Amino acid sequence: MAPIMVQSMTNTDTADIQGTIDQVFALANAGSEVVRITVNSPEAAAAVASIRDGLDKLHCNVPLVGDFHFNGHKLLRDYPECAKALAKYRINPGNVGRGDKHDTQFAQMIEIACREQKPVRIGVNWGSLDQELLGRLMDANAALPQPKSAQQVMRDALVISALESAALAESVGLASDKIILSCKVSDVQDLVAVYSDLAARCNYPLHLGLTEAGMGSKGIVASTAAMAILLQQGIGDTIRVSLTPEPGGDRAKEVIVAQEMLQTMGLRNFTPLVTACPGCGRTTSTFFQELAAKTQSYLRAQMPIWREHHPGVESMSVAVMGCVVNGPGESKMANIGISLPGTGELPVAPVYEDGKKTVTLKGERIAEEFQAMLDAYVQRTYGNGSPRSSGQTDQRHPDTPKVIPIRVQA
Ligand code: SF4
Repeated sequence: MAPIMVQSMTNTDTADIQGTIDQVFALANAGSEVVRITVNSPEAAAAVASIRDGLDKLHCNVPLVGDFHFNGHKLLRDYPECAKALAKYRINPGNVGRGDKHDTQFAQMIEIACREQKPVRIGVNWGSLDQELLGRLMDANAALPQPKSAQQVMRDALVISALESAALAESVGLASDKIILSCKVSDVQDLVAVYSDLAARCNYPLHLGLTEAGMGSKGIVASTAAMAILLQQGIGDTIRVSLTPEPGGDRAKEVIVAQEMLQTMGLRNFTPLVTACPGCGRTTSTFFQELAAKTQSYLRAQMPIWREHHPGVESMSVAVMGCVVNGPGESKMANIGISLPGTGELPVAPVYEDGKKTVTLKGERIAEEFQAMLDAYVQRTYGNGSPRSSGQTDQRHPDTPKVIPIRVQA
């Protein structure tokens, strides 16, 4: 089974070629495996090929998906270089035209996808649900002896819109293996219900995402709550976390959240993760929190290089603990872990590697020395040609030679 892929989307004006290149590059560097860009105007469509060229020059081969609404049939027709440069087209069947135009304009886009041999994501969104379809289903429901709730009809309409659109795309000539479906809603229970129904009724790959998830912890929690239920059931082939960035915030946060969702569920490994305790009354200072945060940032920052030169490192586990109550136990379970001194404990920090204590750090340079030990562990354990492969979960190499201690034992 193919690994579940992480997607993201830019929020730049696509007509701003350099700004879009920069953001796509940053998202790809954070680990996004597909990046969607909006193609909403002739200027945006005209920019797409240059964006692709610019990324290629940076050796960034992340696939670009074009997001089309309302005028996609014209843009794909009038800007053939855009149609060629994109790896996939996202078409929202609720936004392709009303009445007679709907099927005609949808078919025009599908014909171009067939000619260019591009896959299409038929992306239904409850905020732009096909109103004619919804009206038809509402009327039919009202005539039932026991009508369903309006919420249930809306859920049905999302699924039917996706399935009818896929059938139309196939009738135009698009192969079934070139079709991906999504049905995004902003409510957790709706998302679970809609995707469960969709997965039961088709074999198309599914792109998961809670749309308009929101900001900060709310967006992260809601996205994770919804998608984890579905992913646990084997539903979902690609995911996106639709976080609203904080003003001036990092767009790549949505990529990190998506990766951490998959990694903490044991579905894929992307970057070494730090296990840290919450701290309590035994924690003597903020040094422990700072070390945990710095260590996670450092590990993530190394990944663009490490993933090339140290295959398997993404499965490494690191522990940063606040005292000796749970510190040594958690450290032994990690590939490498450190326990900082708690209240009333000696001012020393034992480090464990592969389950054994190798050194005890002390003094002013514990953070730097622990980072050096991390580097040495990675170099020693995940060199090129490492027997570990991505996705392995048994991370122990108990016979690996130990690093030379950089501080004497306390
Ligand atoms: S490991 Fe120590 S500092 Fe951390 S939460 Fe447990 S008792 Fe508190």
